[in-house]
Amino acid sequence: MADWEKRDNTTIWHPFSPLEGSMPHLPVISAEGPWLITTGGRKILDAVSSWWVNLHGHSHPVIAKAIARQAAKLEHVMFAGFTHEPAIQLAESLLRILPDNQSRIFYSDNGSTSVEVAVKLAFQYWYNQGEKRNQVIALDGAYHGDTFGAMSVGERSIFTQPFFPFLFEVDFIPFPSRDAEEASWKKFTALIDSGNVASFIFEPIVQGAAGMRMYRPEFLDRLIQYAQANDVLCIADEVMTGFGRLGRLFASDFLENKPDLICLSKGLTGGALPLGATSISAHIVKTFQTSDLKKAFLHGHSYTANPMACAAANASLELLEKEECQKNISRITQNHERFVRQLTGHAKIRDVRSMGTIMALEFHTDADSSYISELRNKLYPFFMERNILLRPLGNLIYLIPPYIMTDGQLSEIYQAIEDFLALDY
Ligand SMILES: *Cc1c(COP(=O)(O)O)cnc(C)c1O
Repeated sequence: MADWEKRDNTTIWHPFSPLEGSMPHLPVISAEGPWLITTGGRKILDAVSSWWVNLHGHSHPVIAKAIARQAAKLEHVMFAGFTHEPAIQLAESLLRILPDNQSRIFYSDNGSTSVEVAVKLAFQYWYNQGEKRNQVIALDGAYHGDTFGAMSVGERSIFTQPFFPFLFEVDFIPFPSRDAEEASWKKFTALIDSGNVASFIFEPIVQGAAGMRMYRPEFLDRLIQYAQANDVLCIADEVMTGFGRLGRLFASDFLENKPDLICLSKGLTGGALPLGATSISAHIVKTFQTSDLKKAFLHGHSYTANPMACAAANASLELLEKEECQKNISRITQNHERFVRQLTGHAKIRDVRSMGTIMALEFHTDADSSYISELRNKLYPFFMERNILLRPLGNLIYLIPPYIMTDGQLSEIYQAIEDFLALDY
């Protein structure tokens, strides 16, 4: 164990972690169902689906088998000039379950690249038509990934501060919490009325990294309607909300007005392999339907549509559409709702909320509720000591469990939260 730690510490640079002063990175040797198993046989309950990616539990035999079968047959092939069954099948499945207006799938590697592709397509849509539109609208608090385009359309924060001078300009509207809808609407319509807006990008209904912040689908519907009435392309970043997280297959299923572009990753492969997908509506595709190379989308990645990743995604979708999985999603939703009702009004809680399989709880603190919060340093070890992985965002904890998590396991986590609330911290 100590040996692992030392070797890790001298060779590896971990994401979102300072090189000095962070806790040791725990060596995980295997994982099964909702459990991460570290050296020494410690079992940790994964309440956050390993960064929101895992849907059906770890090392799921159906997904593992699909990957192994594919690896032995065709592990990879360049995707320009070649195609393969796993990618075609996945595109067909996605188009079957996505909103009806979606007509093509563009593959990439992860959530950031799925956003990058959507943002670039939205700009080129205007370029191809010879119209100059270069403004983008996003929501305050947005997180869309860590590449430059994705950072540009995300909130300016400590995470992106060193790069501020290099990010392209974006207009942010107030996050439409219930009491900010009016202000949000005002700024949004004024920007759209300027006539220079190319696209509007948003995390539909739940903003993930900002702290599982939720807003009304009805309000988002109004924004999309106004944007589309003015030919502004709407990009739904469903990297986190996709594949059942909010109780329906996609957040877009709660909307009357369907987005023009949809970004997918995270749960796409059930959390087994990295893969990104951007789905594109027919009227955008039309502006690219020419043999003129200058109007083609000249973008790609070496691992675009990796066959093993596509096979994992096909297996994951099959599991997701099973009645058992749908039942699990409603079961977790109901458990969360009950626990939220139970905690509502608690003196130590500023806000507690849930939507589908996501639950979030904000603690009252004196200090500002930024990522660097004192409370975080108490929360993380408290739950880890109980072998529960909850990764707080400042003064907020959230659950986004794999769908196979049982009622008993959920109760264990809820109980731990109640025990923390009972502490004199
Ligand atoms: C995680 C996330 C991303 C970035 O995905 P990566 O795979 O980490 O690059 C983009 N958008 C949303 C909403 C996310 O939650």
